[in-house]
Amino acid sequence: MNMERRILLVEDEPGLVMTLGDRLRSEGHHVESAADGQTGFDMACGEAYDLIILDIMLPRKNGMDVCRDLRQRGVPTPILMLTARGQTVDKVVGLKIGADDYLTKPFEMMELLARVEALLRRVPAFAGAGGVYQFGAIRLDVRRTEVTLHGKPVTLSAKEFQLLRYLAEHRGTTVSRETLLSEVWGYGAVTSSRTVDVHVAWLRQKLEEDSRQPQWILTVHGLGYRLAG
Ligand code: CA
Repeated sequence: MNMERRILLVEDEPGLVMTLGDRLRSEGHHVESAADGQTGFDMACGEAYDLIILDIMLPRKNGMDVCRDLRQRGVPTPILMLTARGQTVDKVVGLKIGADDYLTKPFEMMELLARVEALLRRVPAFAGAGGVYQFGAIRLDVRRTEVTLHGKPVTLSAKEFQLLRYLAEHRGTTVSRETLLSEVWGYGAVTSSRTVDVHVAWLRQKLEEDSRQPQWILTVHGLGYRLAG
């Protein structure tokens, strides 16, 4: 039996988006789509997908650049590239910059589904839609209480996990130390705002490439913390 998987389809041909989307949904998958490369890139950076189907010829940012930049950001999601007939150079370059497989247009639907299933077998299934956050190489799965970095599990204390979760759920907005104290530690807990700072430092040590120059868990001076998004 198929488990629902989250697939991001980055393709600018509406007809193909519709047929492919319908077919993948009929296979039991959750499908989201982006009609240009930049939107696709932003979606793939912000949310966790099990697979990205990526066209090469796209408006705003071509598929090659999207693929290369996603890998540079540490996003590990398998990528199936769609190339036009005869773009052999693209195929070689595509695999070199981090695509996992490619398919030449026009293709048979059965062929595409076979490739999709083969790639999905490689990645462990998520607990379905929602509750999974991706920021760079960091993946936070709320339902499974699991955090991975470059695909490897990271052990967090309960408070560290709750803190990260709160920041992820409010991604892009600045959260004050007071709010974090009351939301994560609870009112009346014997803590000071220094407690928040210490836990943020621990999280950075476990998750950031360089904890002194954090890319994700940012300090907003005089205000609090913000998860980049
Ligand atoms: Ca295209």
